Amino acid sequence: MSGTYLGMPAFPEAAEASTRDMRLRGNLRHATHTIRAKRERAVAELDDWSALREAGAAVKNRTLRHLDHYLVQLEEAVTAAGGHVHWAADADEANRIVTRLVRETGEREVVKVKSMATQETGLNEALAGAGITAYETDLAELIVQLGDDLPSHILVPAIHRNRDQIRDIFRARMADWGLPAPAGLSDDPAELAEAARLHLREKFLNAKVGVSGANFMVAESGTLVVVESEGNGRMCLTLPETLISVVGIEKVVPTWRDLEVFLQLLPRSSTAERMNPYTSTWTGTTDGDGPRTFHLVLLDNGRTDALSDTVGRQALRCIRCSACLNVCPVYERAGGHAYGSPYPGPIGAILTPQLRGTGTELDASLPYASSLCGACYEVCPVAIDIPEVLVHLRQRVVEGGEVMVRGQKTTIRPAKGHAAERAAMRAARWAFEHPLALGRGQRLATRVRRFQPRRLPLPGPARAWSQSRDLPSLPAETFRDWWRRTRGANGTPQGPDGRDGEGTE
Ligand code: SF4
Repeated sequence: MSGTYLGMPAFPEAAEASTRDMRLRGNLRHATHTIRAKRERAVAELDDWSALREAGAAVKNRTLRHLDHYLVQLEEAVTAAGGHVHWAADADEANRIVTRLVRETGEREVVKVKSMATQETGLNEALAGAGITAYETDLAELIVQLGDDLPSHILVPAIHRNRDQIRDIFRARMADWGLPAPAGLSDDPAELAEAARLHLREKFLNAKVGVSGANFMVAESGTLVVVESEGNGRMCLTLPETLISVVGIEKVVPTWRDLEVFLQLLPRSSTAERMNPYTSTWTGTTDGDGPRTFHLVLLDNGRTDALSDTVGRQALRCIRCSACLNVCPVYERAGGHAYGSPYPGPIGAILTPQLRGTGTELDASLPYASSLCGACYEVCPVAIDIPEVLVHLRQRVVEGGEVMVRGQKTTIRPAKGHAAERAAMRAARWAFEHPLALGRGQRLATRVRRFQPRRLPLPGPARAWSQSRDLPSLPAETFRDWWRRTRGANGTPQGPDGRDGEGTE
């Protein structure tokens, strides 16, 4: 069984350890730079990329505004097509539902398509607790599972492993889970892929129950969509007799026409492909074709709370392409495990504190796991303004306030250790609310500027920060005085003698 994120330290502590791991940094740098360059080329091929991006954001915004309507439409369509719909308010409820459904089949094993939603709920661990073994069938997820490891990237969960490490994991652990690794297995990618294929084929052919997530759900027809590159998803979705899909409620799109936009945005942003090799769609059940029983578990787990936040809700537009991870300088150095959640990188830094709240030290530290450089926003195919949400969540961490948690209005207490920041922000707010005092203060500062220290004389641990940063020099004249002198009181540009300069040369 893979480990869990429970009890992980706050981001700075975890990142301090991971940034010292030179092999990890080398693996991450190589992988993220390769994917990032390929994505750039794939996106540059389309003249209408920015229009597509806007369309993607608009479709998601519209859907989120009317989410209740589209979810009910989806439920009706899935039910009419022979599927069964279950609603899960949180992770525990989703795990209980899936465990019960598997038990009802009498099976003790399931095969899984790569699924972020079930990582979020910790389904594998819950199933193991009930004596049911879940086999991951995505290659990278298999590596993670065999290595008793945790995923560290949305698209490439084993991105922190190189070929030598994967060979060693296969040699040491495959036999514990089924077909052993072939004798003399090398680190050649083709040999490693073949070993995984043989190991997994046995699972596919024996499995009676499949568990999946979905990239999209089309409300008008009740169709679920999985896009993937390896074909393992197609096997899990078609061979078992029972299929259980656990999907976040934000994955719904109204129509097939809307889906078309995302089937262009997602492959280019994630794997830098013009289209992904496998797109599987299914609608309820069909006699003689695919699973005979289909269950859809619709997962909330904090999503409606996020939806109630007018700034934070844009995180629900995410289509899990991972482009923001691949360009993030913080992710590249800290690695995915430091984020303490299945959602690492910039999207994790804004999604996890909304799904789980900011009550723990780890979750309160995530909005600070960013330099706010904005590269994530630039590449996001649904234009999520990640820096805006990060700043918004930092405010929540520093000031506390009322938010929705599990559907209840809850008062978040300000996180510890932010007293100085809170005091500075209060002082700034007071100053901006009192422009007269601000103007006088600025003028006084310009008069005493020759006494300005080069660095802020901060005491204690803050000294390390202030000693490596020069204070910006105070100008000889405040902006307001400059404006008045050059533009006049009515904002009209002034000539050198202070008279109206319009039309002068
Ligand atoms: S936030 Fe945007 S770039 Fe990041 S994974 Fe989600 S859709 Fe992709």
